[in-house]
Amino acid sequence: MQFKDIKGQQVLSNRLTQIIDAGRVSHAQLFVGETQSGSLALALAYMQYLCCQDRQHYASGSELRADSCGHCPSCQQFEQLSHPDLHLFFPNFTTDRIKTKPSCADFQEEFRNFLNQHRQMGSVEQWYADMGVEKQGVIRVEDATAIEAALALKPYQSEYKMVLIWCADKMNADTANKLLKTLEEPDGRTLIILTADATDRMLPTILSRTQQIAIPFVANDSHPEREQLTEWFVEWMRLLFKVNMVQLSAWVDRIAKEGRELQKQFLTFSLEALRQCFLQNISGGTYQCTIDFGDPKFNQSFYTVITRNNIELMTTACNNTLYAIERNAYAAIAFMNLSLNLSIYIRKK
Ligand SMILES: [Zn+2]
Repeated sequence: MQFKDIKGQQVLSNRLTQIIDAGRVSHAQLFVGETQSGSLALALAYMQYLCCQDRQHYASGSELRADSCGHCPSCQQFEQLSHPDLHLFFPNFTTDRIKTKPSCADFQEEFRNFLNQHRQMGSVEQWYADMGVEKQGVIRVEDATAIEAALALKPYQSEYKMVLIWCADKMNADTANKLLKTLEEPDGRTLIILTADATDRMLPTILSRTQQIAIPFVANDSHPEREQLTEWFVEWMRLLFKVNMVQLSAWVDRIAKEGRELQKQFLTFSLEALRQCFLQNISGGTYQCTIDFGDPKFNQSFYTVITRNNIELMTTACNNTLYAIERNAYAAIAFMNLSLNLSIYIRKK
């Protein structure tokens, strides 16, 4: 992956190549932002640039100040995801083939295929869908042991031993605690990059031991589900006003049939939509909401009902539901309960 192929992230790409050129590479970094916005692609482009044997620098005024060459032996190995010093970790699960004790080692080929197919921008939901699994993946303590083992080796070919942990928020507590030791006692030739959509589900001790790089949100064509989330949200908010129980039950049944990851995504999207609508409201309409609800009437008027009197109640209710869904609550009940609460709050204008 080269920086030039990552849409909309030139500013950050330039910061990253500057850090490498200045020799200020910190040994443990956390790239925070959605995979679809390029967090994983940027991490791989960063490592590729770090190891490139012929770094390219461009004239001032170019969008990118520098990039990897794309054709030296190291770059070629990165493009094929076969660099011997690069170790990939990601959420994994039991399948028909791996019935017990799954680990990343069992899915290396599948994961590389997934990365290639989606040009390193595929979401974790796509990863599960491609693998045909419904369950949520976990990065287990066996994987933390493998990370230790990978880092105990001498670099084979480049200056660094590199570990990339995609969706690091899917590490369970044992994994995270085991990894802490590795993060505490790095040796100079180690580079660990973690990526995560958000930091709220990660151990503070992990956060404090990593340098955080915020990945700006970039809307792009690989967000087909975003349109779906927007549609559901608009329909839902309208039903909350109408309080037509037949229609509301039908809506709840529909979302309850979706996978848990999509339900969580929907709630996260709803929280963001409410937050932005509230900002638009208190700014008297001057704050520009970045979400297009796909309906001019909704775009122009919905924000006026999200006020100081209900934003906190609505946000807390959505967060509680998100927490319940993560802990495998029965989705139909969780969403119905949430809908009933929100239909009261949304009236507290
Ligand atoms: Zn190169």
